[in-house]
Amino acid sequence: MALVKCRECGKEISNNASSCPYCGYKNRKNNLKLIIIALIILVVILLFGISILYIKYKLDNDNYDDGYNFNLNNNTNNNINESSDINNSYISSSDALNIVLKDLNINKNDIYDLSNELEYKFGKTVYDIDFNYNRFEYEYYVDAITGEIVKSFKEYD
Ligand SMILES: [Zn+2]
Repeated sequence: MALVKCRECGKEISNNASSCPYCGYKNRKNNLKLIIIALIILVVILLFGISILYIKYKLDNDNYDDGYNFNLNNNTNNNINESSDINNSYISSSDALNIVLKDLNINKNDIYDLSNELEYKFGKTVYDIDFNYNRFEYEYYVDAITGEIVKSFKEYD
């Protein structure tokens, strides 16, 4: 609570007092006037600030749109490059099958009910190769990139 000098008698009074305790000078009218002026200034500042923010927002958005389109084009190019890289780096399904046949030391003509599908398992892209051979059911998972046999199961049919 600050002390101010009364405008009428010059004695020190609280700035919160609506009237002077010594001379009874009413401060309320002045306070109201000040509040109204302060409010008008505040509204002007707010309107000014809002219009500046709005202009800045619009400019940023325009820049953002340009940047986004630019990135989008870049991404599209990257995706094309990536997918062609992926296609190049995957071994073929017949290569994967040959790895399995070599592991079992058997011939392709000896197996039946073959299914060979590319899928995502064990955190990598693998060929899921199922077939029957010599009354056994085999399931192999071959890493589609390295050609490594990730897992294999053998079950009596
Ligand atoms: Zn006074």
